[in-house]
Amino acid sequence: MKLALFDDHRLGVVTDDGIIDVTDALPWPHDPDPLTAGWWRRLCREFAAVRPGLEEAAARGRAVPVAEARLLAPALNPSKIVACASNYAAHVEEMHGVQERTLGGVESWMMNFDVFLKAPSSISGPRDDIVLPAAEVEAGHEIHHESELVIVVGRGGKDIPVSDALDHVFGYTMGLDITVRSAADRSRRKSYDTFSPLGPWITTSDEASDPAGFQIDLVLNGEDHRQHVSTKDLLTPVPAIVSYASQMMTLLPGDLIFSGAPPGVGPIHGGDVLDTAISGIGEMHIAVRD
Ligand code: MN
Repeated sequence: MKLALFDDHRLGVVTDDGIIDVTDALPWPHDPDPLTAGWWRRLCREFAAVRPGLEEAAARGRAVPVAEARLLAPALNPSKIVACASNYAAHVEEMHGVQERTLGGVESWMMNFDVFLKAPSSISGPRDDIVLPAAEVEAGHEIHHESELVIVVGRGGKDIPVSDALDHVFGYTMGLDITVRSAADRSRRKSYDTFSPLGPWITTSDEASDPAGFQIDLVLNGEDHRQHVSTKDLLTPVPAIVSYASQMMTLLPGDLIFSGAPPGVGPIHGGDVLDTAISGIGEMHIAVRD
């Protein structure tokens, strides 16, 4: 099932005909305030129980064309965004050159797989612009796109074994991990507002049963095909990511985990347009401005 948030934080099922509003089929009160996201976290945690009711509502509902709906990021006030570093071999390799250019040397500790945090307030919607921070542009820092498979946590947990990890995944969406290349801490370089475009919706894990089967693409300005990768090439695969992150911090329903940058990262500038796609989920068309 594909689930979108749209208009006034309504819940929609995405079909070939468009988006069908199923908000009223939820067994709990819906709250349009994105800061009080209890209903959304319950949906992430208890989706299996709610799914039949949503399917029934989708079958009798009326579809609105996707282009006519105001699509929002498919996340409401997550407790955290976890993100993976150094998770494709070819990206680790290319970062040697990027760091030589932007830092004047290679930070070897950054070449190892690990997780870090991005501010949840950096999330923006699938049709929102990326706004480049003036101070970073004026400082001459490169600002890069990273197009990533994003795991949406369902039932949370701590110390989740790899063998159980997929039982804790609600679904998958696409995220751009926009990143300033500078000597600052990762949490600063990746947490500006609009630095986590997310969408266009979530494909639930019962529909996307193989997280190693996604194809990710990013095209700059309609011609420069910068990123093209399969998630089968993740050095630390999705179940191991979930397990690893949960050994450090309790994962809560609705938390997001960015799975790592594919090779082909590169600078973006005001006026650029990014077309991103992920197989089995969807596409985003995002403008960049100063
Ligand atoms: Mn990243």
